[in-house]
Amino acid sequence: MIGRMGELDLLSHVFKHNAALPGRVIIPPGDDMAMLRLGDRDLLITVDQVADGVHVNCADTPLELVGRKAITRNLSDVAAMAALPVGAVVAAALPRDLGDANATRLFDAMRATAERYDCPLVGGDTMIWDGPLTLTVTVFAEPRGVTPVTRSGAKPGDVVCVTGRLGGAWRDGGADAPHLTFEPRIALARDLAQRLTLHSMIDLSDGLATDLRHVCERSHVDAEIDIATMPTRRGGDTDDTDSHGLTAEQRHALCDGEDYELCFTLDARDAASLPAKIDGVPITRIGRIVARAPGHDVACLRLVRPDGASNAFDASGWEHA
Ligand SMILES: [Mg+2]
Repeated sequence: MIGRMGELDLLSHVFKHNAALPGRVIIPPGDDMAMLRLGDRDLLITVDQVADGVHVNCADTPLELVGRKAITRNLSDVAAMAALPVGAVVAAALPRDLGDANATRLFDAMRATAERYDCPLVGGDTMIWDGPLTLTVTVFAEPRGVTPVTRSGAKPGDVVCVTGRLGGAWRDGGADAPHLTFEPRIALARDLAQRLTLHSMIDLSDGLATDLRHVCERSHVDAEIDIATMPTRRGGDTDDTDSHGLTAEQRHALCDGEDYELCFTLDARDAASLPAKIDGVPITRIGRIVARAPGHDVACLRLVRPDGASNAFDASGWEHA
């Protein structure tokens, strides 16, 4: 257990060494996937875990959905690069009392989900232990004619957009809660990246506020969000607003995490030709990228109210323990 220091400090420790990586590392640590050049081909790689008690609660979740999420969580990272998956491997730490039949259900679900996205399970490892169920999935992907979209290309003047609706992915519903049943936006990302020049993209796993800040950090810019434009999962509400001018639904949309939608930026001219929906999924303009304030090392996210007043938003989104 590395505590809350975890993801941010540990990752920045890793990033410090990026400059020393060999030339075949085309996209270094710090993005949704890394990319290696192998001869004249590029291979993208991501790894993610689903642990009982952290990313799922096995006590009230069918194993089929646990297995599904272990795969789709990774495929959301593939979508974030506008790449196509090519295969996956899984390392499973199974609780001693899981039993053969349940282990089979779990693996059948992972295999079926992976195959549905043309991402066959091609290997893995299992062990039995006294800890919680933990599935560690590595997915490989390829650009297949689309330049991967990273977190580092956002430019001042870019429009910030999101797919789908945000917030409450754990709150609404038990076995069909959005964090279990979401569709990785692979086809949508490919469609967007083929018709427009996307400057940056990330999938929304940690919450819009945190994930957009990741884009800003990697791109050395700041961002503004027009809070009234955020596509909240439950739509408009009439709650009182907090000190940031946020309704409860807007705060959920900013901070909850596990939406597994996409946030991307592109220049205003390209944004003008964005459709309102792609395959039924809403595409919403929620703000803009602005130049980093002089003298500031850390990215700033500003929330802009309908009356034009704005303030910096420091509350972080979801960070997994
Ligand atoms: Mg991601």
